[in-house]
Formats: sequence, C-alpha cells, structure tokens
Amino acid sequence: MDKLVDAHCHVVTDPENTHCGDAEGFRGMLRCVMSSNPYDWSNLKQMTSNSVRKDDIRVGFGVHPWYSHLFYVGASRNKLSHYQDVLEYKDKDQFDNLVRVLPEPIDLEGYIAGEFDDALVSVVGEVGLDKLFRLPTNGFYVQGEKARLTSVKVRISHQEAVFRRFCRLATHAGIPISIHDVKCHGKLNDICNEELLPCPSVKICLHSYTGSTETLLGQWLKKFPSDRVFVSLSKWINFKDPEEGKALVRSLPPNCILTETDFPIDNPDPTYQGDLMEQLRYLNAQIAQAWDGGLDASQAALHVYENFQRFIE
Ligand SMILES: [Zn+2]
Repeated sequence: MDKLVDAHCHVVTDPENTHCGDAEGFRGMLRCVMSSNPYDWSNLKQMTSNSVRKDDIRVGFGVHPWYSHLFYVGASRNKLSHYQDVLEYKDKDQFDNLVRVLPEPIDLEGYIAGEFDDALVSVVGEVGLDKLFRLPTNGFYVQGEKARLTSVKVRISHQEAVFRRFCRLATHAGIPISIHDVKCHGKLNDICNEELLPCPSVKICLHSYTGSTETLLGQWLKKFPSDRVFVSLSKWINFKDPEEGKALVRSLPPNCILTETDFPIDNPDPTYQGDLMEQLRYLNAQIAQAWDGGLDASQAALHVYENFQRFIE
C-alpha cells in the first residue's frame, strides 16, 4: 500500500478541551501535524502521548498569524494596551467588545521556553503572515463555532515579530519550518532571506502557496537551493482549478513537491478519515499526470514520500 504524505495538517482548536483526539485511522498516512495556538498545542501533545503509532506523526510547534494577537512580544503589558498595540481597528465598539472576550495576552518567550521540546517537535509551524485575516467576534477562530467576522485585523508588524521569533527558533533548533502566507509574498520572502537563508540546516515548506509562479521561481528557488524549499499542495487551494494545479506542478522541480490536506485529523469517523486519504490520493494522481503520462499515482506517492523524508530528516 502507498504511504501517503500529509505534510501539513492540524488538530482542532478547542479551548474547552472537550474534544477527544483519536489516533485511529492513521494507517497508511504519514502526517506532519501543525499547532497554531496554546489550545491545539495541548490537544496535540495529548494525542501524541496517547498515540500507539507515533512513527506516523511528526509534531509541529508554532503560533499561526490568526492567533498571533494572543501573544505579546517583549515587555509585559496590561491587556488593554497590548490589544491596542497589536490590533488595527476603526470601529471602537468592535474593538471594545473584542477586548472583553479575548484572554489575557501570553508571553511569547515564556510560551516557547515552557512548551518547546526538541525531543517531541520535528518542525516549526504553523507560522507566517496573513494580510486578509480578520478577527471573529469571539476573539479567535475556534473549530465549529460560527462567529461573525469583525473588521479588526492583527497589525502586520506584530505578525512579523511573532513570525521572526519562530524563524529564530527554527534556526536555533536546526529544524524545518512550515509557512502560511496570504497576500504577503514579498515581505515574507524578505524575512526568510534574512532569518533563514544563512542557516542551511533549515528547510522550508510553503504550504498551500498562493503566490505567483514568478515569485516561487524568481525569488524562492533563485535564492534558496532547491533542496531547501518545498511546496506543499492541497486539493482545495492549489487544485481548485486542476489545470492550474498541474501547471504549478510542471513549473516546479519534482523534488520539492509535497502533498497536504490542511485539515484537522483528530476525528476518528472512518468516512472523515477516508476523505482525507482520498484528498491525498487525488493529489498524487494529479501530480503523476502533470509530470508524465507514463507515471501512475503510486509512483508519484513514492516520490512525494521521499521528498517528505528529505524535508523532515
Ligand atoms: Zn494550516
């Protein structure tokens, strides 16, 4: 059976911790599971301690830009001045309501010092920058909670401070990094050139990348050796238009391609797990077609598996 690679997936964010992750259904998939905030991190830690199939999971540690406002960088501040500093808002009522529901900000340095464990963590992520993201009325995104979006954003300068801190964690620990980038392609590339380029041991996974092929080839793959940059493709973003997805595959060096779902994995329902597997199979079939009519999905899956080994090693 093919070993399918999910190079970028999640566990649910559940502040009440009522969700019970399950390790079933992992068979046949090698998963690189991100954490994005303290809630999914505690969930992920619990899952890995329960899991009987640890070999099939790689653990990510990070703060996603959608949760970066929950942290302060540098000197401690009171709650109101922290959120005033890091949030960008025009509507004062919306801001006041958010401050009411948001938690006390967390010290990023303390979080990393207390939680990062190099024996458990294989990759820094998910981290990055997001220009479009807006806060929901409940303060941060929680799976299954349907909160309206406000017009309040997290300042890019704050997202950048958090992202740079995690780049330094990756270089310090000498481990790969999995990056989220929405509409910040130039800035994010500049930061990586400064923070990561000088450190050859850090490999980069651009997950569900939506920048142009010109940026990928002309900036990323021109500056970084091609064995340090990986592009992880998802069905729902990169193959929304299958022809565009295949064109992207053809434009990239075959050795840098990975596959992902970007979905939470901690749902033991066999139909759900089957769907995740199906997404990865779909990607391998598309990649095989893009490369060469003579390849089949199994051969593409093996190639992606070897790519992932080089990413994570
Ligand atoms: Zn993600």
